[in-house]
Amino acid sequence: MQWPPKYPDNYRPDSDQEYWSPELETMPTAERDQHILAKLQSQVRYAYQNSGFYKEFYKDLPVDPANLQSLEEFEQLPILTKENIRHEQEQHPPYGRFLCVTPEEIFRIHGTSGTTGRPTVFGISNDDWDRIGEAHARILWGAGLRKDDTVMVAAVFSLYVGSWGALVGAERLGATCFPFGSGAPGQTERAVEWCKMVKPSALYATPSYALYLAETARQMGFDPKEDFGFRFMFFSGEPGASVPATRRLIEETFGCYIVDQGSMAEMTPWMSNSGCRHLDGGMHLWQDIVYTEMVDPQTKLNLAMGEEGVPVYSHTERTSQPMIRYWSGDIARWDMVDCPCGRTYPTLVTGIYGRVDDMIIVRGQNVFPSRIEDVLRSMDEFGGEFRLVLERETGQMDRLTVQAEVVAEAYASQEFNPTELEQIRERFTAELRRAIGVSVTVQLKPAGEFERTQFKARRIIDLRTP
Ligand SMILES: [Zn+2]
Repeated sequence: MQWPPKYPDNYRPDSDQEYWSPELETMPTAERDQHILAKLQSQVRYAYQNSGFYKEFYKDLPVDPANLQSLEEFEQLPILTKENIRHEQEQHPPYGRFLCVTPEEIFRIHGTSGTTGRPTVFGISNDDWDRIGEAHARILWGAGLRKDDTVMVAAVFSLYVGSWGALVGAERLGATCFPFGSGAPGQTERAVEWCKMVKPSALYATPSYALYLAETARQMGFDPKEDFGFRFMFFSGEPGASVPATRRLIEETFGCYIVDQGSMAEMTPWMSNSGCRHLDGGMHLWQDIVYTEMVDPQTKLNLAMGEEGVPVYSHTERTSQPMIRYWSGDIARWDMVDCPCGRTYPTLVTGIYGRVDDMIIVRGQNVFPSRIEDVLRSMDEFGGEFRLVLERETGQMDRLTVQAEVVAEAYASQEFNPTELEQIRERFTAELRRAIGVSVTVQLKPAGEFERTQFKARRIIDLRTP
C-alpha cells in the first residue's frame, strides 16, 4: 500500500452518486480493519522514526511501534493528552518535537486559543492540507454538498481551524465558496443582508450562531425560511446539531436539513466525525480517514460497540504533525446503526454530548448541559437562552440552578397573573427532573436576558470554590 496515499486532485463523482469513494465507504468491517491497520502501521512507524517526541514517548513499550502486528497491538500505545502536547511545546517551542518535516515545509499554522491554558500549535504541511481538503470534500459530499451549491462560512477566520477546514473541503469539491466570517461588530446584520442577496444554499457555523442569525433576521423584519435560500447546514463546535430539540428548531426555522460534524481541531481533518444527508442526528465515524477508538474514562481500556466513553483519535495519513491516540476528553456513545446511506461506519449515535469536564454531578447523578438544552428547547415558553449555575452546598454537595429565559408574553404575565409564571416554572422543573433524574432549581428570566453568542456558547457559571 502506498503511504501516504495520493489522491487525484481533479476527481469528483457525478452529482447523482451517493458516495465519493464507494469502496472505502461501504467496506465490510473486517476488511476495513485490515485497511486501517495497514495505514496505522505506516503512520506509527513514520512518526516513531521521524519525530523526536514519539521516539521518546514510545520507549520501552511491550510492542514494536515500527512493526505493529494488529489493532490490539496498536491499542497498547500510550494515550496522548493535551497536557502532553502543552508540555512538549513548552519545552521545544513552537511545535514541540512532533514535526516529522522541516519547519520550512509547514504550509499553515493553526492552534487553539488557550482559554484554558497554554495555547497549542499545529503545523500543517502543504501535502497534509491537500489531504484535508480531499477528506472534507468526500465527507461534505456525503452530507449532500454538490458543485452547484453556494457555501457560506459564517465562523471566525483566525487560528480556529474550523472555518478554514470547511472552506478547503468546499473548494476541493468545486462548490461556490462564500467565506463570510463572523465576530466583527455589526457583522451579523450584514450577514442577514448578504444571505438575502446571495442566497447561499449551505451554511457552516456553530448551532448557536445559526439561531442568533435567525433572531437577528427576524428583528430586521425578515423570515429566515422565506427570505433566505438554505437547503442544508453543517455544524461543528457544539453538541447542538445532535440535540433533538435544537436540531428541530434550526430545521424548522430555516426550512432546511442539518448535519452534525466535528472531532477536534488537533485532529483536522476534523470532519471525520460527520452525519450524512440521511442521518437524523449523530455522526458516522469515517474510520479510514481518522481512526477512532472508544475508551473508558477511568480504566482507559477500549470499549465495545454500544458503549459510552471517550473518543480517542488517530491520524492515518499525516506527515507533518501526527496525533496518535489523542484523548479527546469528550463523551459519546458509539454503535452500528443501519443508516439509509448504506455506509458501514460505526456511528456516534447522539453525537458528542459533552466534555468529561462539563459533566455535572448533582446528587450522584451525571448531568450533561446538552440534555438540559434539549429539555428547554422542547418547551413552548422557552425564550432562547439559558445558563447553568453551579454552587457547592455545605457537605460538598453540588447544587445546580437552571436559569432559563421565557418568551416575553409569558414573562409579562406575572404583572397581572403571577401564578401563571409560577406554573410555567413548575412545568420546567418537572420536565427537567423527568429527563435528568434529579431535582434542580429553576429560575425564569425574560427573553434577551443572556448574551447571544457569535461563536461557541458558554453556558456554565461555576461558583464552586475549589
Ligand atoms: Zn449515513
